Amino acid sequence: MRKGIPVSPGVAVGVAYCIHEIFVDPDTQRLEDHDVTAELAQYEKARERAASDLRALQSKVQSQVGHEEAAIFGVHESILRDASFSEKIRTWISRDRLTAQAALHRLVNEYTSLFARTKDEYLRERLNDLRDVVVRLSSHLSDVLKPHAHCSLHSPLIVVADELLPSQVVALGDIEVKGIVTQKGSQTSHAAIIARSRGIPAVSGVRGILRQVNTGDTIVVDGRDGHVKVNPDPETKAAFRKLEREFFHLKDELAANRDRPAVTADGVPLDLHANINGVQDVHAAVAMGASGIGLFRTEYLYLTHHALPDEDEQLAVYQQVIAVRPDLPVTIRTLDIGGDKTVPYLGHDHQEANPFMGWRSIRLSFEHPDFFAVQLRAILRAAVYAESRRGSVRMLFPMVTALEEIHRLRKMVSRACRDLEREGKDYRTVPLGMMLEVPAAAVSLDTLLPLVDFVSIGSNDLVQYLMAADRDNPKVSHLCQPLAPPVLRLLTQVVEVCERAGKPLTLCGEMAGQPKSFVLLLGMGLRSFSMSPAFIPSMKELASHVSIPTARELLKHVLRMKTTARVKLFMRQQLKQIAPNLSLFDTA
Ligand code: PEP
Ligand code: MG
Repeated sequence: MRKGIPVSPGVAVGVAYCIHEIFVDPDTQRLEDHDVTAELAQYEKARERAASDLRALQSKVQSQVGHEEAAIFGVHESILRDASFSEKIRTWISRDRLTAQAALHRLVNEYTSLFARTKDEYLRERLNDLRDVVVRLSSHLSDVLKPHAHCSLHSPLIVVADELLPSQVVALGDIEVKGIVTQKGSQTSHAAIIARSRGIPAVSGVRGILRQVNTGDTIVVDGRDGHVKVNPDPETKAAFRKLEREFFHLKDELAANRDRPAVTADGVPLDLHANINGVQDVHAAVAMGASGIGLFRTEYLYLTHHALPDEDEQLAVYQQVIAVRPDLPVTIRTLDIGGDKTVPYLGHDHQEANPFMGWRSIRLSFEHPDFFAVQLRAILRAAVYAESRRGSVRMLFPMVTALEEIHRLRKMVSRACRDLEREGKDYRTVPLGMMLEVPAAAVSLDTLLPLVDFVSIGSNDLVQYLMAADRDNPKVSHLCQPLAPPVLRLLTQVVEVCERAGKPLTLCGEMAGQPKSFVLLLGMGLRSFSMSPAFIPSMKELASHVSIPTARELLKHVLRMKTTARVKLFMRQQLKQIAPNLSLFDTA
C-alpha cells in the first residue's frame, strides 16, 4: 500500500494503465547485429500505431471538444512524420546499435540541450510537444505495455503517470478513466483540478509508484485519504468495490437533486457556481445544477492555441459559453498565465527563479497592453449575449496585489469601451472584480474595495502565498493547507471586511468543494461559492444538513485551535455526524 496526496475524492478499483516516463530508465543495452532489422521494424510499427492514435484522437477531440483543442494532435502527428526525426532514430538504431527506446531518449536529450540555448520561446515550447510524441512512441515500444495495450484501452482504466502533460489530460477524454495516480503534483495542480472537474478519484505525489505497478495490474485509488493499493487481496478488493459502487450510486443520486435550490438546513439560500476551463465544461456545470459560472479560467483557451487567439475567436468562445444558459451569470477571468501555466507566444520567461511570485497574471497582461485589450474587448462584446434580466457577464482580474493595478485595469477597460464605441461595435459595460489571492491585498482589502464591484477569493493561491508553500510541491503540501489556522483567521477577516463594505464576495478556490472547509466558510458568512461542477451536488446536499448557527458554532470552536491537524480531526468527526454518507466526498 502506498500513500500520496488525495486530490480528488471518491474510490475507484480498476485496471492500471501506466504512462511511463521514458526518461526514468533509459535503455543502455546495445543491440546485437542480428537484432537491428527487427528493432527497426518495431520502431516503424510503433510509429504507425502512434500516428493512428493521433489521428483517432484528433478526430474524436475535434468532434467532442473542438477544433482548437484537437489541433495539438495534428501538430504531434507532423512531428512524428517529420523526416529528420525518424532519420535520426533509424541511424542511431542501425549505426550506433541503440534500441529504439534508447534512441528516443537520445533524441529528447539532444533537443533539450539545443532548445535550452535558444531564446525562441515558440521553439522551446515545441520541446514539450516533442516529449509528448516520444512518450507516445515509447509506450507503443514498451514490453510492459504490449500484452495489455489492446484490452487496457477498452476498459475503464486507472491511469498511472509521472505527471499528466496537458495533451494527455485532453486525451483522457478519449478513454474511459475511472481513477488517476501520479508521482508528481498536488491538490491544486492543474491535472488535479481537471480530475476533480470530471469527478474522477485521484491521488498525486505517490513517489516511485511507476516502479511498483504495471499495466494490467489491479489497483485501488482511495481519493479520500490518498491510499493506493496495487494488486490487493480479494477481501480488500471486494471491500473497495463496494465503496466504489456506493460512490457512483451516491453521485447519481445527488446529481438528481440538480433542480433543487441550494439552501442551508435553516433555509438560507446559497449560490453554488461552477469553475470551468472551456465550453466543454459548461454542460457538466448545468447538468450538476450550477447557479452560474463563477470562474471561467480563460488561460486554457490560450494554452491549447498555437498562436494568439484573436478577438473574434475569443468572442466566439465566450459567446458559446454564455449561449448554453444565457440566463445564468458568467464570470470571465482574464488571462492567468505564469506560475505553472506558460504560453509560448507571450515571450514568457521559463527561466524565472520563482515563477509563482514573478511575471504572472495581470503583471504579464500589463506588459502586453495590445494583446490584453483583445481579451477585454472580446469579453465586453460577449456580454451583449447574456440575457439582460437575469444573466450577466462579470470580468475578474487575477493576482491583484496593489491599488495602482486596479486603477490601471479600470483605465484599460474604459479605453476598450471607448474604442468599441468609436468603432460602432456592440458591447456592454460589466462589473469588474478582483481575485483575492495575494496576502498583501487581503491585508489592505478595505482600501481596495471601493475600486472593485466584487471580490472572488482564489484560495488556492492565497493559501500557497500565505503559508509560503508551493501549491504544486508535494514536499510542502503539509503546509499548503486551507484548514491551517492562519488561513481560517485571514478568511474570516476577509469575509467581515467585504460584508461591512457591502461588496459581493465569492470563493472560487478548491476549498469551496471540500466539505470541511465548506462548512467553516458558511460559518464565516460566505454565501457564494464556485467549484468544480462535480462537487456541486454534494455541497448542495451538505448545505441542506447544516444550519447557519451550527456552522458559526463550529467555526468559533475551530478558530480557537492552534494546529491544522486538530482542525481536520475535529471537522472530520463533526461531518460524520452532520452528513455521514458524504464522507466519500471528503479528502483527508
Ligand atoms: C485560486 O488561486 O484559488 C484560483 C481559483 O485560481 P487558479 O487555481 O486558477 O490559480
Ligand atoms: Mg489563482
